[in-house]
Amino acid sequence: TVVNVAINGFGTIGKRVAEAVTRQPDMRLIGVSKTRPDYSAVVATRILGYNLYVPADKIEEFEKAGIKVAGTIEEMIEKADVIVDATPGGKGAEYKKLYVEKGKPAIFQGGEKADVADISFSTLCNYEEALGKRYIRVVSCNTTGLLRALCTLRKAFGLKWVRATIVRRAADPKEVKRGPVNAIVPDPAKLPSHHGVDVKTVVPDLDIMTAAVVVPTTLMHVHVVYAKLARSATREEVIRVFEEAPRIILVDASLGLKSTADLVELARDLGRRRYDIPELVIWRESITVNGDEIVWIQAVHQESIVVPENIDAIRAIFKLAKKAEDTIRVTDETLGLKK
Ligand code: NAD
Repeated sequence: TVVNVAINGFGTIGKRVAEAVTRQPDMRLIGVSKTRPDYSAVVATRILGYNLYVPADKIEEFEKAGIKVAGTIEEMIEKADVIVDATPGGKGAEYKKLYVEKGKPAIFQGGEKADVADISFSTLCNYEEALGKRYIRVVSCNTTGLLRALCTLRKAFGLKWVRATIVRRAADPKEVKRGPVNAIVPDPAKLPSHHGVDVKTVVPDLDIMTAAVVVPTTLMHVHVVYAKLARSATREEVIRVFEEAPRIILVDASLGLKSTADLVELARDLGRRRYDIPELVIWRESITVNGDEIVWIQAVHQESIVVPENIDAIRAIFKLAKKAEDTIRVTDETLGLKK
């Protein structure tokens, strides 16, 4: 079977998921949608050769700008077996009515409220629970990063509680209107931050509390995580568990990978498209184990970390892979993630 996928909202997340879909043996990209005839609409059509769908009342505007339109967003939805909704936070819930009306399953992003979907999703935690669901919400970048590490530890050792501080990037690189430019902002000052709450939409019984601050950078988020395991472990054991987990890489500050800037430089040197780092990055030196207590520091590339989970979510809807490990194998190989 080949599943026909449409991407509604061709922005930071949408363009990456679109490209990832084109690399899957069991999926076909039937089109992407845009609301404005800007450079990315030109790239999508002329360079990448995607079919472009636009709101009915905008067709003329796109054609005047010399951009070829394949049809309306409604027509795209009709042609698709599944829609990946990557529109701005809150818009997905509005679009859901249309997806339901046309009888199409859909995947939503972390900017939507949890109740937009039948399940909030993160592959390493609850792939099997998502099998056959019609509406799946892939949790946000920070939540995905936390869950990759936490579900890995929980499976290996059990988890009693988790406390984390999220140091958030202020904006994506292309967002010129967001800030702060020169301040550190508690986000929010009243605790807890929503990140731990969001983790619980996937793992409801986990005792987790998070706080967050926003800092003036666009590259990546950084988390400092403290956890109590259900049993004592050694540092070597914990390192082995992280090393063997999919989608997690350990890096060494001693090799010069001391900051998010170094990680991005490495991704550029490796020729990673757009310097994407879909893996969760953990600083090996930071991993500190004291009996059953553990601390570590990790980095999240917000623009790309949720891409593999979006692909897995499509497989879950159509039961194209029965087990997490089966979808992970295909997704990670086709996207060039670490083995
Ligand atoms: P974005 O602004 O980069 O992209 C959104 C796209 O949707 C834009 O191309 C916009 O033109 C288009 N759009 C706007 N209104 C539309 C409409 N009515 N119909 C169709 N398309 C429309 O946003 P993003 O950063 O890709 O975020 C999308 C979702 O992913 C949000 O829920 C966000 O919370 C989530 N998310 C974002 C990040 C991140 O760091 N950027 C990380 C994880 C999850």
